[in-house]
Amino acid sequence: MKILVTGGTGYIGSHTVVQLIQQGYEVVILDNLFNSKIEVLDKIQKITRTKPIFYKVDLLDYEGVSQIFEKHKIEGVIHFAGLKAVGESVQIPLTYYNNNITGTLNLLRIMQEYGCKTLIFSSSATVYGMNNKSPLVETMPKDSTSPYGATKNMIEDILEDVYVADNNWRIVLLRYFNPIGAHESTLIGENPNGIPNNLLPYVALVAKKKLEYLNIFGDDYDTIDGTGVRDYIHVVDLSNGHIKALDYAVKNKGIETINLGTGTGTSVLQIVEAFEKASGRKIEYKMMPRRAGDVATCYAEASKAKKLLNWEATKNIDDMCRDSWNFIKNIE
Ligand code: NAD
Ligand code: UDP
Repeated sequence: MKILVTGGTGYIGSHTVVQLIQQGYEVVILDNLFNSKIEVLDKIQKITRTKPIFYKVDLLDYEGVSQIFEKHKIEGVIHFAGLKAVGESVQIPLTYYNNNITGTLNLLRIMQEYGCKTLIFSSSATVYGMNNKSPLVETMPKDSTSPYGATKNMIEDILEDVYVADNNWRIVLLRYFNPIGAHESTLIGENPNGIPNNLLPYVALVAKKKLEYLNIFGDDYDTIDGTGVRDYIHVVDLSNGHIKALDYAVKNKGIETINLGTGTGTSVLQIVEAFEKASGRKIEYKMMPRRAGDVATCYAEASKAKKLLNWEATKNIDDMCRDSWNFIKNIE
């Protein structure tokens, strides 16, 4: 079965491509390389002994995307491609709406044209907004707290409408919690440019002494130790969830929204402790005021994934910190 992976050289996409190839799928990657590097293809080849077919194409290039469908009989799409920095989306909302929404509309129109109606979409726990209480359940009301979050919300709604208009679609919306970790080969992982916004890459740079200390945003939340609690999930577990979602979609017409999280929360200080253990390095930190837009606690109710996809996370925080560290420690 031939699968198009948009954003397939990115962080989660590259791990998913590895698993798809290892499970016998033929993979075609589309990525504009805006936030990833072409060398990822060699790394994928090293791990799987297969070089995936790759197109450097932007989803905004309707003709370019059409040509891929013309050349290949694509039977399903896993759609990762998108811009994902919450803070940046507040600064340049039009870029985010154009890239994420127009890009997805192009993809959907082309899929429809070529009769390809199986889609797995990368949504996010951000759609639960600020007002729901964890554990977060798929049926809770949605909200947007940033233009980035709004694009995820809108695409979810667009896909619902697409299914209502044509019941032959097979769509799974996966709401990810906080993906961290890296492939155990240490060949692929997350390596953001510049100063990271997310906790794990920031902690990793403090461990490497590239940054002096971690700013912990808030120590007065109503949580186990006052710091923010999140549902961290190993990227390999998360990728595996996509293979299960694809299996499900192939067998079932319909549209399903499914959380991919572990169902447990970990505080910032617990992450610091686990990373110190994994790296053998001291993580210096300073307590800072709360970051605007952060909730105290965010973790998944994970039973729908177990029931529908027979998927659950297998790796714990120590595994995640070990694999993050092993990947990042050798990178310049
Ligand atoms: P990433 O930036 O590593 O990967 C996204 C890839 O898409 C990049 O390689 C980028 O070059 C590509 N891309 C972006 N816009 C494109 C376009 N118009 N045309 C072609 N390629 C384009 O991000 P990731 O962490 O792997 O995230 C993948 C998806 O999962 C994104 O949609 C993101 O919003 C979603 N998500 C990520 C997280 C997270 O914390 N990483 C959490 C929830 C949801
Ligand atoms: N965080 C922090 N310092 C940082 C980055 C993040 O204390 O430099 C905290 C943040 O307030 C939140 C948790 O770490 O409680 C996870 O933040 P991240 O940005 O990684 O994910 P998100 O907030 O999007 O869930």
